[in-house]
Amino acid sequence: MATVYDVLIVGAGFAGLTIAERLCTRHGLRCLLVERRRHIGGNAYDHLDDHGVRIHAYGPHYFRTNSDRVVEYLSQFTAWHPVQYRVKSFTDGRYWSFPINLETFEQFIGRPATSEEMEAWLAEHRVPIDQPANSEEIIVSQVGWELYEKFFRGYTLKQWKRHPRDLSPSVCGRIPIRTTRDDRYLREKFQALPAAGYTALFDRMVAACGDALTLMLDTDYREIAPNTDFRHLVYTGPIDEFYDYAFGDLPYRSLRFEKEGFTPGQLAERQPISGKAGFWQPAMQVNYPNDEDFTRIVEIKHATGQDCDNTTIVREYPHDYTRGREPYYPVPSPDAEAIYEKYRSLAAVGTLPEVFTAGGISRAGVNASFVGRLATYRYYNMDQVIALALEKAEQIGEMSRPKGLTT
Ligand SMILES: Cc1cc2nc3c(=O)[nH]c(=O)nc-3n(C[C@H](O)[C@H](O)[C@H](O)COP(=O)(O)OP(=O)(O)OC[C@H]3O[C@@H](n4cnc5c(N)ncnc54)[C@H](O)[C@@H]3O)c2cc1C
Repeated sequence: MATVYDVLIVGAGFAGLTIAERLCTRHGLRCLLVERRRHIGGNAYDHLDDHGVRIHAYGPHYFRTNSDRVVEYLSQFTAWHPVQYRVKSFTDGRYWSFPINLETFEQFIGRPATSEEMEAWLAEHRVPIDQPANSEEIIVSQVGWELYEKFFRGYTLKQWKRHPRDLSPSVCGRIPIRTTRDDRYLREKFQALPAAGYTALFDRMVAACGDALTLMLDTDYREIAPNTDFRHLVYTGPIDEFYDYAFGDLPYRSLRFEKEGFTPGQLAERQPISGKAGFWQPAMQVNYPNDEDFTRIVEIKHATGQDCDNTTIVREYPHDYTRGREPYYPVPSPDAEAIYEKYRSLAAVGTLPEVFTAGGISRAGVNASFVGRLATYRYYNMDQVIALALEKAEQIGEMSRPKGLTT
């Protein structure tokens, strides 16, 4: 007889793993976690590459949060390596301090300046807009047209293949603008990476579950759905795919990563540029807003603090999304939101697609939850996904208790 699981969880990213860990260890539920990639961790997966350098396989993941609860939760599974995430921008043939701060302003006017001077300049150049309605408006209302065009317009067009005018204010509005010398990329109070990497953290989450968790890698849930018995479904994949694109494809942006490794001998020549032995570029991330096809070059060794003589850089090329590619970024725009709303309505009433009924198992009373970046089509950071997953696990745990769901 087939095993009956309390919960079938689709996707072993931060959302699926957090829910699995909580349900298994705190609520004593039996979970099946199904992941179609060959590894756990979703887009936050990291590993050592051929040069022995720890890289983030699906683009750099800068962990940061203001949530004590999220830090406390993850600290059960990892120690931390504190980081000040530093970014530069390369345009007009030179590196600029970024995000825009007093040093950027000094580079821009070609001489030393004070915060007061910068504030006066901004006051003169910013465009008065009371309630910025899109990404262009939010930036020009803070810094005016010239700095917007130098640092934001080209980058955003490349990244999203949409004009900043057609993107919600949150896309560009995430980036701080300061009149001090504070050049930290991010605002959150806690900024650190898991000391031994994300994958080690994920491995510990899985280990904590013990026998209560069955993990299947390299498996699409559709392969096992018809014949798997469960009481609750947690889905963390793309919601349009789940409903077989019934309302059309949601727009996503995809990416192509181009990696290049360097030995200490090669790096010695770069030292005048990187300013530091063992590194290729002067900061963890350099943005290329205007003249290149890629948007950024990331040298994550700056942030991981790994003790390694080699280094690896990754050029990131935005790519159109078509089915079969990785849907990296939901597109935060009103037209995309309108399509998502239709899928959300289906999800809200718990409609399950046919694949679940094909095997003849009754799904009466089965609940479905949609959690995470792709399932709720939200541009969430890791900490937000973890916080939502912790909440969802509590709800599912509570829901399961009175009915005494066991195998
Ligand atoms: C390039 C990039 C950079 C980012 N940088 C940051 C950052 O610096 N800081 C930050 O906080 N956040 C960052 N994020 C966001 C972060 O990746 C997400 O918040 C987080 O990964 C969301 O976790 P998740 O579990 O919702 O989704 P995911 O990590 O996408 O996991 C979903 C999993 O579901 C699996 N899946 C999908 N469909 C199926 C199926 N049919 N069957 C089985 N499995 C399936 C997928 O293979 C995937 O592993 C970044 C994202 C990207 C793309």
